[in-house]
Amino acid sequence: MSDSITIKEEPQMFGHPKGLFYLFFAELWERFSFYGMRALLTLYMVEKIFNAIAERDAATAVVYASYGSLVYASTVIGGQISDKILGMRSSIFLGGILMALGHFVLAIENDMAFFLALALIVVGNGFFKPNISTFVGALYKDGDVRKDSGFTIFYMGINIGGMVAPFLCGLLAVKYGYHYGFGLAGIGMLAGLIVFWRGITSNVFGDKGMPPSNEAYEKKVIGVPQKTLIPIIAFLTAPGIAWLLSSWKSNYVSGIFKFIGVAVLVYLGYIIYNLKTNEARKKLIMAVLITFFMTLFWGFHELSGSVITLFASRNVDLDGIMTAAQTNGLNSMFIIILAIPISLLWGYLSKKKLNPRTPYKFGLGLLFAGLSFYILSVSGVSADENGMVPFYYLFAMYFIISIGELFMSPVGLSKITDLSPKNIVAFMMGVWFLSSAFAFQIVGFISKQLAVESTDTNVGGLQTLAIYTNGFDLIAKYALGAGVLVLLFSPLMKKLMGNVH
Ligand code: GLN
Repeated sequence: MSDSITIKEEPQMFGHPKGLFYLFFAELWERFSFYGMRALLTLYMVEKIFNAIAERDAATAVVYASYGSLVYASTVIGGQISDKILGMRSSIFLGGILMALGHFVLAIENDMAFFLALALIVVGNGFFKPNISTFVGALYKDGDVRKDSGFTIFYMGINIGGMVAPFLCGLLAVKYGYHYGFGLAGIGMLAGLIVFWRGITSNVFGDKGMPPSNEAYEKKVIGVPQKTLIPIIAFLTAPGIAWLLSSWKSNYVSGIFKFIGVAVLVYLGYIIYNLKTNEARKKLIMAVLITFFMTLFWGFHELSGSVITLFASRNVDLDGIMTAAQTNGLNSMFIIILAIPISLLWGYLSKKKLNPRTPYKFGLGLLFAGLSFYILSVSGVSADENGMVPFYYLFAMYFIISIGELFMSPVGLSKITDLSPKNIVAFMMGVWFLSSAFAFQIVGFISKQLAVESTDTNVGGLQTLAIYTNGFDLIAKYALGAGVLVLLFSPLMKKLMGNVH
């Protein structure tokens, strides 16, 4: 009875709420802008922003890491503000407008504009990203079996954007200049907003995504209603963040994240200590562990936008295949190809009662990461006299690390909601996103070690090849070591955790 009412009230399409497809396209375009811009970011800094200084790679590494950390950490705040005051619809609009503005400011050729643009994207993503993901979940009732496949469809949208954008923005950047590439990213974000707006005007979201309460939404603080005050504050924080990003020499962001890391761990320890039952305690410890493993994995994976893009541009023979920026789309391409087969594999293994426990999947995911870097580390054996290695090494590397991603990221996302006590699910989602934020600090650390000083003689060629392949070798060892450790400890975790995994 209630089902037939739901179907009447909220239109369905292909067996899912129609709203899903609006969110799918809105997120597709938002990720188009995010990854189109990310594909150009490192090369743009090295070639345009820091081109005049010898430590240009190191400066780029710090700014890239700080941007990445802040862009994911801001989602914790954006999620909380949405839960308590704005609701998902307003948050998504606010975030989308800030992000579009950021991409358009990037199209201006000016160093200060550059940092302001990154800051606008940091704040914008904080409002957009967590809320559009939660919105997907909100379209389904608790326990609706279609929810998982809804998220798989949504993850496809993310990666279609992530695959197409580097190709197109990379093409424009090479043909006409970086600013055209950034401009296209901005247009992508506007397209996302228009799709979302169409969803609202065609009433496919029912009553979902409204502010949690009218009082909070309209409540006046210093004479201004919160619904207006929050966007104003959001815009005003951007110059402060721009300043943080531009002070790369002091690297304040890294200090801030060390502090946040300790604070989060202490707070989690406190929560675990205070939980009522042993079962709940075990679950939360498991949630914290998988978040920690995920941080390590993203720390290697997110190198793709920095060191690996530089390696592609300096030492991979891409002639006639694609540009270095465009290689950023390979990961998403493989995710699109592999997501459904791997999710079918889990279903198949479940039926046979052979589905591995989460720690095993995570250990294997880290092993895949290690293997992918191992492939890059041995690429030097095929280098020509200019230190250029064949493209298939990079291609194989992205193939392998994408398998690892699918062993961890979607699995972890659904596990976090299962394992966290109900009253702190939102907080734990935030911690989950913080894993990406901390990962960027690992990326910054590694990228700084592999920074090449720019003098006329040592960029490109055999010398940079040696720097990169030695670095990749070390990363492979760490990732493989971490994977082996997780796998070795998995039986012990099984013993201690019982049916919690
Ligand atoms: N590629 C996924 C996305 O863009 C996950 C990224 C991450 O959390 N680091 O949503």
